[in-house]
Amino acid sequence: MSDNLIKYCRECVISNQRPSSVVEFKNKLEDVKPMIKFTNGVCSACIWEKEKSNIDWNERRNELELLCDKFRKTDGTYDCIIPGSGGKDSAFTAHFLKYELGMNPLTVTWAPHQYTDIGWKNFKSWIDQGGFDNILFHPNGKVHKKLAKLAFQNLGHPFQPFIIGQKLTGPRASILYDIPLIFYGENQAEYGNKIEDNYKPTMDLSFFSTENFLDSTISGIPVHKIINDYNIPLNDLTMYRPLDQEKIDSVGSEVHYLSYYTKWDPQEMYYYAAENTGFRPNPVRTQGTYSRYAGIDDVIEWLHFYMIFIKFGIGRATYDAAQEIRNQKITREEGVSLVQKYDHEFPDQFLSDFLDYFEMNSEEFFNTIDKFRNPEIWKKDGDNWELKTQVS
Ligand SMILES: [Zn+2]
Repeated sequence: MSDNLIKYCRECVISNQRPSSVVEFKNKLEDVKPMIKFTNGVCSACIWEKEKSNIDWNERRNELELLCDKFRKTDGTYDCIIPGSGGKDSAFTAHFLKYELGMNPLTVTWAPHQYTDIGWKNFKSWIDQGGFDNILFHPNGKVHKKLAKLAFQNLGHPFQPFIIGQKLTGPRASILYDIPLIFYGENQAEYGNKIEDNYKPTMDLSFFSTENFLDSTISGIPVHKIINDYNIPLNDLTMYRPLDQEKIDSVGSEVHYLSYYTKWDPQEMYYYAAENTGFRPNPVRTQGTYSRYAGIDDVIEWLHFYMIFIKFGIGRATYDAAQEIRNQKITREEGVSLVQKYDHEFPDQFLSDFLDYFEMNSEEFFNTIDKFRNPEIWKKDGDNWELKTQVS
């Protein structure tokens, strides 16, 4: 319970409280805990960034070409699935594979809860200006909204049902259209899950299947309970349903990370996407941080990052600054001051959208947020909440 519990990386600004995106999918409340490892005061993402310079990227490029040769089709059918939103990473992935490596991708998109104007423009421009076929998987909006609200109330994680659908969409399309090869852009391990995961080109697909859907959880609630207590029929949960392992095996689905084969730098991906698919940054600064080009498709994403700040004490500016320090775009000192300036900023530009979407009044909404303030991280001074420890 002491303040010493929270440690900040000596090289970037991330803290040891950073949650893993992997456990989010596993879905159990008790599993949503910090996963990043520190060694001699340095986080695993910073250690990995240095290890990356020892990799022979020419050799990796050869591996990529061999992989593409193995799957490339010449009969006009699709030879790979690229899941994405048309943000900078999927724009790069699709364009690079199609136009530099001669693949014939089918891009697939899991729809945001609520597109921002810039998110919809970038999605359209990815497809129309970049030149790709796309299938938009759009879940039942009534159900998705209920699940997101439950996830907000139960887990403080309104994005959780979205993440489930997002992770399933690529492999689901692979099975539906019998296209075994799936390409993701970056491996989340880049940001501090297990370093050794970065040395694997593929994602473990056992992740996407589960023995018993009715006993698994969405929004922190067992599916059988969602059906009985929340009046959502089983038939309306198909998009969240894990995949059948036998079908995965019969198609031979493989998920590969492009970041294994080519050196990943988010800012470089942004420049590439701007040039080749017409990707545009947000005209205004993203509230909660200083950047304008990452995670700007979905209104609810602003709340998602704010809730990470509430639960783990690190916000959107911390994520952006940590990554830009590692890529030597800014110094640690600049990063610290950006975090202090923006991390705590509530995204009030979307407050009325949040209230409309969740059908809550503002008191209910802010009470829900405060319920998730971790007492090891926050203290109350009069009416104001303050972080007990801040990066310095
Ligand atoms: Zn670090």
